Amino acid sequence: MILCPKCRALMRLNRETNQMECKRPDCGHIEPKGKEAKITTRKRIDRKIVVTESIEGTLPTVKIICEKCKNNEATWVIRQTRAADEPATRIYQCTKCKHKWREY
Ligand SMILES: [Zn+2]
Ligand SMILES: [Zn+2]
Repeated sequence: MILCPKCRALMRLNRETNQMECKRPDCGHIEPKGKEAKITTRKRIDRKIVVTESIEGTLPTVKIICEKCKNNEATWVIRQTRAADEPATRIYQCTKCKHKWREY
């Protein structure tokens, strides 16, 4: 089972393009097949970190839509994963409802 990294809806395989597509039409996120399995695994590990760590202090904000409350502003931090060869990830936190999510 593969979840959309943006909205966490189920993704389905488009056999014509061989890409995974988010089934939510308002999201429409597309992932190339093949790198999916890796991302899903890493996501499961990283979610623990996101939940247990709190984002505090004065942080930069960015105009981005919160998937929960549709607020259009969130703070963000760059988080380097343990392995040095992995890219740093950006973690967003909604300024309104404090919902957190991450982006690659
Ligand atoms: Zn989606
Ligand atoms: Zn929100």
